[in-house]
Amino acid sequence: MKLIDILKKSTLSLSFEVFPPKNSTSFENVRLATEEIAGLNPSFMSVTYGAGGGTSRYTLEIAKSIKAKYNVPMLAHLTCVSSTKETVISQIEEMKKLGIENVMALRGDLTPELENTDRHGWQYRHAVDLIHELKNSGADFCIGGACYPEIHPESRNQKEDILHLKEKVDAGCDFLTTQMFFDNNLLYNFLYKIREAGITVPIVAGIMPITNANQVERAIKLSGSFMPQRFKSIVDKFGSSAAAMKQAGIAYATDQIIDLYANGITNVHVYSMNKPDVAGCIQNNLSDILGQKL
Ligand code: FAD
Repeated sequence: MKLIDILKKSTLSLSFEVFPPKNSTSFENVRLATEEIAGLNPSFMSVTYGAGGGTSRYTLEIAKSIKAKYNVPMLAHLTCVSSTKETVISQIEEMKKLGIENVMALRGDLTPELENTDRHGWQYRHAVDLIHELKNSGADFCIGGACYPEIHPESRNQKEDILHLKEKVDAGCDFLTTQMFFDNNLLYNFLYKIREAGITVPIVAGIMPITNANQVERAIKLSGSFMPQRFKSIVDKFGSSAAAMKQAGIAYATDQIIDLYANGITNVHVYSMNKPDVAGCIQNNLSDILGQKL
């Protein structure tokens, strides 16, 4: 099923993200966790793609097995930075073979090693180059792209960032998923600006439940997201107790989603980090509030 058909509905779409294992030793644990998440029957699931080849070879394996066993619509991530045309095309061909209909087209992060390499020979510099490749592949993929309510860290300003975002949409992005954010007002402000810039595709709000204190620093470092004082106080108060912090993080994420839904945002993607218990709690909380099983 194409995700665009889900995302255009006016009902709440709640989806979960999983990441593939780092090596074959952890494959079984990850497979079990992702199957448990699939058993929650979310609107769709996404599987990330390790930049630089780290865990990328498992992305399609996981997507294929969940799609086949649970019939949950799948979104396979693909990155392109520093990849050869041959690698990207072979991934796209594999997706076609496996019947993957939805692809998240990403550039991938510029690691310190990549930052210092000669970029002269790169065939893909930005996500838009991958979108063109997907469009030229002969398959009718539903294509997603990433967007940044708090600006991509490499952008000089929001105007420039939104200009490049519009290029991705014009190249064929059917929907956009946001970087995690912890203050909904940042999203509302961003939505106003992108709509004004003529970007009308569905936006999927990315919500990261922070369920242990150690996650905070890493999440902020990776995303550059603003951490509101309200959340900092929660971490200060409950961070030293694993059980309390887990529930507090789930409550904070649930609260964010309720506020989003109350303000007309119907597509929410939870960065569930291979944690079926966290995904299940958020889903149950929302089902209780909405009075229907999500
Ligand atoms: P781009 O859209 O290429 O943008 C990157 C920067 O370049 C921005 O500053 C943009 O304004 C600028 N830019 C874009 N086009 C142009 C242009 N034509 N000329 C000049 N500047 C331009 N990483 C992974 O490795 N694997 C994943 O599975 C993964 N999943 C993600 C999912 C989501 C929802 C998000 C938000 C991020 C994800 N990432 C993932 C991280 C992502 O790869 C990084 O944030 C990366 O730094 C940028 O990727 P992008 O696709 O947004 O890049």
